[in-house]
Amino acid sequence: MVKDTKFYDILGVSPSAGDNELKKAYRKAALKYHPDKNPSPEAAEKFKEISSAYEVLSDEQKREVYDNYGEEGLSGQGGMGGGMGAEDIFSQFFGGGFGGMGGGGPQRPSRGKDIKHSISCTLEELYKGRVAKLALNKTILCKGCNGLGGKEGKVKKCTACSGTGMRFVTRQMGPMIQRFQTVCETCQGSGDICDAKDRCTVCKGKKTQTERKILQVHIDPGMKDGRRIVFSGEGDQEPGITPGDVVFVVDEKPHDKFTRKGDDLFYEAEVDLLTALAGGEIAFKHVSGDYIKVTIIPGEVIAPGATKVIENQGMPIYRQGGHGHLFVKFTVKFPENNFADEEKLKQLESILPARTKVTIPKGSEVDEVDLVDIDPYKHQSSGRRDAYDSDDEEGGQGAPNVQCASQ
Ligand SMILES: [Zn+2]
Ligand SMILES: [Zn+2]
Repeated sequence: MVKDTKFYDILGVSPSAGDNELKKAYRKAALKYHPDKNPSPEAAEKFKEISSAYEVLSDEQKREVYDNYGEEGLSGQGGMGGGMGAEDIFSQFFGGGFGGMGGGGPQRPSRGKDIKHSISCTLEELYKGRVAKLALNKTILCKGCNGLGGKEGKVKKCTACSGTGMRFVTRQMGPMIQRFQTVCETCQGSGDICDAKDRCTVCKGKKTQTERKILQVHIDPGMKDGRRIVFSGEGDQEPGITPGDVVFVVDEKPHDKFTRKGDDLFYEAEVDLLTALAGGEIAFKHVSGDYIKVTIIPGEVIAPGATKVIENQGMPIYRQGGHGHLFVKFTVKFPENNFADEEKLKQLESILPARTKVTIPKGSEVDEVDLVDIDPYKHQSSGRRDAYDSDDEEGGQGAPNVQCASQ
């Protein structure tokens, strides 16, 4: 099912490899080709490849993107070397390199922030899938100076802070010595020093500029609310920092007719009493855009509240093919008062099952009462209204008034 096995091949594992297998494969290969162990240029190249492959495959989101779209899917960075540096991955994995960590100061490149966007999708869109084009204003390394801030060779590393832009200040506070980190005054936090005449005119030494970029977000059929679509390394660029990811999160809009649970859809359909008792047809528009037509065979009784299932008409199952099911809950539309004269109602007696006999134990006191329509002003009381909504699975056979009164 994976589009490209290259990364798996680099690590010598199969595309079905689990976390542990990946870790083992990376550990073995990384130790073998680490530049400290194996200084040849071929080994260095191999070390980078291994690291990139592992970086992608060890990240659930990135792996999914890679499996789906191959290396191109991993954004404009071209996949290889796009994310963290090989050494970063190595030291993260082993908890420090071969003694090369170096003390103090934020020297190692850190990773930029991930940028999250929510992407609102209707059920229809999640059913069919769509490509959303989204414009992103991002910070990129200045194209005029490649992020150097000035002419090549003229930008010198600030010696006061060794290029980190930050300095540590120790301060005595009572018995304690505290270490603070502050912005380097010599270079104003930029980490380097440059003559005004050598400064880049495009970014004025800032090293970065803003760019508008269009990202194509593929909403695939069957994606669910909360699904993350990751554009690896598309976050803001800063000198010496690995850009973070741009992450789109699917936000499923509520539908006014359908509800979704996993891959299944739920729909509430109304049938008239005649159709419910004597068969007929119902039809409604599906989120696929097609109409669903159901024939209720004469003889089959649709009771109010009955739920039936239409198989394989639910949402597409993401990346697996097939569909969930469509559950239809029925409401039965009863006729209005006085829909037929007494003569005709008599005919119903000959057709419908006989009335349920009223049974009252002998000797009980009997209150003869009246049924009236609910008046919300007169009858305001919690719970009373619920009598109408209660699910009566056996209902629907007799006359509606009897059913309500019996609750
Ligand atoms: Zn510049
Ligand atoms: Zn400095």
